Amino acid sequence: MNTPRPYDDDSRRNMVRHGFGLKAEIMGELEADYHSAIIEVIRENGYRWSVGGLNLHLAKAFGFCYGVDKAIDFAYETRHRFPDRRIFLTNEIIHNPRVNHRLMEMGIRILVGQYADGTTLDQITPQDVVLLPAFGADVHLLDRLRTIGCILVDTTCGSVVHVWKRVERYAQDGFTSIIHGKWSHEETVATCSHVSRFGGQYLVVRDLMEAGEVCRIIMEDSMAGIDTGKYDRASSPGFDFTRGLKKIGIANQTTMLSSESVAIAGLLRQAMLNRYGPDRIEDHFRSFETICNATQERQDAVLELMRAPLDLMLVVGGFNSSNTTHLCEIAARHCPTYHVDGAECLLSPGEIRHKPADGPDRIATTRDWLPTRRPATIGLTAGASTPNRVIGEVIEKLALWESA
Ligand code: SF4
Repeated sequence: MNTPRPYDDDSRRNMVRHGFGLKAEIMGELEADYHSAIIEVIRENGYRWSVGGLNLHLAKAFGFCYGVDKAIDFAYETRHRFPDRRIFLTNEIIHNPRVNHRLMEMGIRILVGQYADGTTLDQITPQDVVLLPAFGADVHLLDRLRTIGCILVDTTCGSVVHVWKRVERYAQDGFTSIIHGKWSHEETVATCSHVSRFGGQYLVVRDLMEAGEVCRIIMEDSMAGIDTGKYDRASSPGFDFTRGLKKIGIANQTTMLSSESVAIAGLLRQAMLNRYGPDRIEDHFRSFETICNATQERQDAVLELMRAPLDLMLVVGGFNSSNTTHLCEIAARHCPTYHVDGAECLLSPGEIRHKPADGPDRIATTRDWLPTRRPATIGLTAGASTPNRVIGEVIEKLALWESA
């Protein structure tokens, strides 16, 4: 059997991983599309700004992370490098509608997901260019594209690659990867495909409750009372819950709630300790936290904001952005919190359209969200895929109402 090639085996032909050196050429365009003057003013003012009776407190880490910066740079550079070729993205480049729409305006077409234009893989030719998004792509899709022979521009974030290397190692050593994440999230789909590529098994747990169920199976060596059917799509095909949990390695989707990932690893470690004892734990349990630095910094910055009392918190980011959702979850424990994907969600001072932090995935409209008494203090942050321009527009709308 051929040994599977690790992700960064550079024998892959037609693969561009470091951009085209066209940063200077695209700088002006990036500034025009994503820069916000008001954000710069607030940053220079110690992340605080007042307008009328509103005091705005901006988190000290917010918005575009290093991985998103790289992905967008590469996409713009690719457009410049190949002005006459068809360019495709395998999926959204990042989870932000503004950025995806802008790339589509630039003629970049998307193969899968909510923006798919109907093009199938059979229609991709060796003359085409295909971009892989920041959260990576499934290895089977990648294989197919390599076979076609098109030019591949890989914008996968280094922090995601780090997770892949970890789970590949688990698979090679016979450990099942237990991944804290959402099984349907593009990054986790790609991570699971790396486990399978190396002949390993995986089980994705979404939260502490699911991790608790896995712990029960480990400790009791039985699935009694547990509906394992709900894990069908979250585990490798034919996953055996008793045999597959004897040696486990923990990893997580890079954008999960850090405190929950740590708690899940602790819970599973304790279950393995109970089952195998301290002398054998190393043969049965491995753990490596793979939350990325940018996610951690943004979550820490929200906690720092919460040290001062806030009347409400606005969290700006795509509704399908995992890291934005978790920022919202943290803030909602402290004050009323509204997850909006842009200034359009601020319908009026009396009405806001938002994704609630504590419910199933849905968009709600809430009345009387903005306090009428003054002074009022509003906290603000944004997920790692949110352009400063979008955050700035939210602030400008608040300022407009306040000065009307
Ligand atoms: S959120 Fe983290 S893993 Fe995702 S692109 Fe940004 S730096 Fe990379």
